[in-house]
Amino acid sequence: MLIILRSDASAADRGRVVSLIESLGFRAQPIEGGQRAAVAIVGNDGRVDGARFSALPGVEEVLHISRPYRMVAREWRPEPTVVQLPGGLSVGGADLLVVAGPCSVENEAQIFATARAVKAAGAQALRAGAFKPRTSPYAFQGLGAAGLSLLAEVRKETGLLIVTEAMDEEGLEQVAEVADVVQIGARNMQNYALLKRAGRAGKPVLLKRGPSAGLTDWLLSAEYVLSEGNPNVILCERGIRGLDSSTKLFDLNAIPAVKSLSHLPIMADPSHGTGKRAMVPSMARAAVAAGADGLLIEVHVHPDEALSDGAQSLYPEQFALLMGELKGIARAIGRRIP
Ligand code: PEP
Ligand code: MN
Repeated sequence: MLIILRSDASAADRGRVVSLIESLGFRAQPIEGGQRAAVAIVGNDGRVDGARFSALPGVEEVLHISRPYRMVAREWRPEPTVVQLPGGLSVGGADLLVVAGPCSVENEAQIFATARAVKAAGAQALRAGAFKPRTSPYAFQGLGAAGLSLLAEVRKETGLLIVTEAMDEEGLEQVAEVADVVQIGARNMQNYALLKRAGRAGKPVLLKRGPSAGLTDWLLSAEYVLSEGNPNVILCERGIRGLDSSTKLFDLNAIPAVKSLSHLPIMADPSHGTGKRAMVPSMARAAVAAGADGLLIEVHVHPDEALSDGAQSLYPEQFALLMGELKGIARAIGRRIP
């Protein structure tokens, strides 16, 4: 970290910066520039809070040189993390993982029919929430434990892996008993108690990006899971808030950007990323082309009757068509959808 001093900073201002650095147990290294001077903190491993310096008199700005996260950084582990899943599947290597299914488990007929359809089209895993984080408390909240039991039955029949969301600390263990991958939703990206618990859950974690989160905050959230002993984190871009209430930004830049910053795999969710069925196929194709390690796509046997996110859910035939296109794109860039 570099503490840049104002051109009119006094010797006392500089002395205060140096003393604070030393009181934190680090060495202060003054740097004389042509117009401005700076003081570097030597040996800072990301623990120092820059805000402690930015408000001191004579300080112009605080520049971060090392990254605030450690275990998720490329520097920590140069080779990509490949998260191994049951059935010989994985995320982060040459093979892409396609996870498809409805937003929510609604009833037995709906979840079985949708699961069979996505499996027939080539998906390897089923996504469906039993516990749903809804914007309105009056909206369908999910079937809860009954939904989890249905997911376990679907896996038994179809062999599809199960990706489903844990909404809170208390519910995480219950979800982890059934899920092959525990999803942490966008709204919970900064629920640090939940992240810590997920770090001890013994199951891979799919960590969605918060709707307003920058890459640093997102990676720091992943760091919580790794730092509790779980290295199997899959990031998932799912769109961020747009410039007005009617737009969402599906941030494809985040895919190569995260790959340069971190060794963790990154998937993409064009369903929540666009919120509109008509936009999902093109953004799914674009995400694979951009290097995503997998996709999360909402598909429903009867989207028009869905209890949540029907407007962004693909019809099974659309999903089947899309799978064929995605395979071609993956092949063109040296990857494969098994
Ligand atoms: C979901 O996957 O259905 C969901 C609620 O996603 P997000 O957390 O990205 O909004
Ligand atoms: Mn949804």
